[in-house]
Amino acid sequence: MNNKIKNLSNISETLKKNNIKIYKSLGQNFLFDLNLTDKIVRNSKSNASTIIEIGPGPGGLTRSILKIKSGVVFTIDKDLQSAKMLNDLKQIYKHRLNIIIDDALNYPIWKLGNAPRQVIANLPYNVGTKMLINWLKHIRNFDLLTLMFQKEVADRIIAKPGSKNYGRLSILTNWLTQSTKLFDIPGKAFIPRPKVTSTVIQLKPLSKPIYDVSFKSLEKLTHLAFSQRRKMIQTSLKNIDGRKILEELDISPQLRPQDLSIIEFCKIARKSYDLNS
Ligand code: SAM
Repeated sequence: MNNKIKNLSNISETLKKNNIKIYKSLGQNFLFDLNLTDKIVRNSKSNASTIIEIGPGPGGLTRSILKIKSGVVFTIDKDLQSAKMLNDLKQIYKHRLNIIIDDALNYPIWKLGNAPRQVIANLPYNVGTKMLINWLKHIRNFDLLTLMFQKEVADRIIAKPGSKNYGRLSILTNWLTQSTKLFDIPGKAFIPRPKVTSTVIQLKPLSKPIYDVSFKSLEKLTHLAFSQRRKMIQTSLKNIDGRKILEELDISPQLRPQDLSIIEFCKIARKSYDLNS
């Protein structure tokens, strides 16, 4: 098996050999350094036997997953060219590799294989956050998510209250998971080379959310609160009678949204939407 893997073409050759057209619209920046893809997989410390990779592209990360992890791998890419490039890997790993060609944005990946499930992915930059929000809604189905985003997006996901990056994405993520930054990856590690740095982060689902509120309510409230980031929270929440709710909860109405904790947002969301529905 190891010899067969060693004999696979490198990623640049795989692209050339299959006459691949690279689509910017699909966020196609491919990792070609297989030491780096090994490092990402080694840092994903989950033994979950179902491993899901979104956007395998030419399969650099897929190779590392199959080599380092045991278990069944599901890959989903929107681009049919990916299946062509994964064909050599399929010949080696057979039933351990399941190749799906579909839009992962509309695919219920939380139902793939058997629990526990882990996700390892270098996400397409244009739809990565939308995918994350979808998966957060089904977070109980995952054991661990190891995800690569553009650095600026990763910073927003792991941001703490009080920081300039804190907002809807960090609140929803850290309400449900423990988020950790693993490491940055420079643009030069990809073909074609993007202008920005990427960051690998890890999300470990909590056994329960840090406060009991519905996803819909917290999503609605954080959207409203951060639509006017620089304004006082009482101003952003004017339409839902925010001043009264803030007083009841003993939260200063003069604070800016980034100064409120996740639990404070949960309490406001519950009072504004859940208890009134
Ligand atoms: N995993 C590869 C790597 O690390 O080199 C490729 C990562 S590349 C940043 C993103 C991949 O996601 C591309 O292969 C692209 O075709 C795929 N992709 C883009 N939009 C997608 C979608 N909506 N559903 C599934 N795959 C998508």
